[in-house]
Amino acid sequence: MKRAIPNYLRMLPGDAKPRFKSANLEGKIRRASEVLKKCELCERKCGVNRNKEEPGFCKVGKELLVTSIFDHWGEEPFLVPSFTIFFWSCTFSCQFCQNWSISQRFEIPRKMKEKELAKVIDNCNCKNVNFVGGEPTPYLPFVLKTLKYVKKDIPVVWNSNFYMSKKSMNLLKGVVEVYLSDFKYGNDRCAERLSKVSNYFEVVSRNHLLAKKDSELVIRHLVLPSHVKCCTKPILDFIAKNFKDRVIVNVMQQYRPEYKAGEYPDISRSLTIEEFEEAVSYAEKLGLNFIR
Ligand code: SF4
Repeated sequence: MKRAIPNYLRMLPGDAKPRFKSANLEGKIRRASEVLKKCELCERKCGVNRNKEEPGFCKVGKELLVTSIFDHWGEEPFLVPSFTIFFWSCTFSCQFCQNWSISQRFEIPRKMKEKELAKVIDNCNCKNVNFVGGEPTPYLPFVLKTLKYVKKDIPVVWNSNFYMSKKSMNLLKGVVEVYLSDFKYGNDRCAERLSKVSNYFEVVSRNHLLAKKDSELVIRHLVLPSHVKCCTKPILDFIAKNFKDRVIVNVMQQYRPEYKAGEYPDISRSLTIEEFEEAVSYAEKLGLNFIR
């Protein structure tokens, strides 16, 4: 099994500056503030004025809402320790979400200012800063503003469901060192049913192509019980066709029937060893550069 080391690993102290340091952050912040007035940061394109706290699907308004921040040792081995910032809420409603108390808004978040968050990042001692949630996309304007204040040379990891709009993809361009995607479904029917989101495959596959053009890409795929044929295999086929072994794929087996999974017979159980092995054998057969 091949395991390519992302270029990003060469960006340790003493090497090149992180990309966000030379990005036009001021211009991006201005454009992002415009998007907030009629929000289309993700492909739900709610069109609400977030500055006036009009609620869109994600219910995020004009403030940075953080649920936790810590040195994460559980990410992919080449990313740890990763300084992980968990934002409140999500643009999806995954019925099996493993992180549902944050994504589905059961936790009470802490309000933070961008300067305050930047200071926290400056004081960390990790390989990268990892923006996640829930989902970081609703917070993109605030993330850009935060980065403007960050003094530390620290690479940015964008850890996301990849349902960003094209405008958000443009705002991220030149800022992110590693896109860490969560590629869940191989078709729109499963996405609609299990995450309440439409046009999934077109949007998410498009964003994978854009992300790889811009920077390093690591793709996570959590294998769902009963979904190897309809989801895992089409996703792995897409990766093989478009990236071959030029991206790292993390085939994940840690599914647990969380949140509302009990209401869906197909996902109301754990993954079997046979299902996981079928997924891994398929990735191997396609010649993908995967970890498990
Ligand atoms: S980020 Fe939130 S408000 Fe904006 S389009 Fe997406 S779901 Fe709607």
